[in-house]
Amino acid sequence: MATRVIRKVGDDVLRKVSRPVDSINKNVLILLDDMAETMRNANGVGLAAPQVGILKRVVVIDVGEGIIELINPEIVHIEGKQMEVEGCLSVPGKLGEVERPAKVIVKALNRNGEEIRVEGTGLLARALCHEIDHLNGELFIDKAIRFVDPNEE
Ligand code: ZN
Repeated sequence: MATRVIRKVGDDVLRKVSRPVDSINKNVLILLDDMAETMRNANGVGLAAPQVGILKRVVVIDVGEGIIELINPEIVHIEGKQMEVEGCLSVPGKLGEVERPAKVIVKALNRNGEEIRVEGTGLLARALCHEIDHLNGELFIDKAIRFVDPNEE
């Protein structure tokens, strides 16, 4: 495993739409491992492949309940609303209030190519939406209704 460089806002790669993974080959497995290590090192709760400069639909999330690896994730159900403050490893020093669904169900492939469904509420629902936005070139700063001073949080 290796740590990869996290791309920061202003880097064009963060604004591009990622391509679906068509075969889960060795490179995809290495990418998943490296992304998990990079996320852990940065104390993040989620990381999407474009954040390490790879335009593939691959996401890792860990909200404290173990690592979730998602390949070609798709939101198949949303319910309710929540408004909380969020940040992003690619937008250091910035936090903003973003409205997200209270609950989401995401369909994806795991590293074995099996279809999985992940149901998330609270922080996990937020992380799933935030990371899938990255795959579409969207950042939380596009959606924040208000920015907050990180020192006040
Ligand atoms: Zn992010």
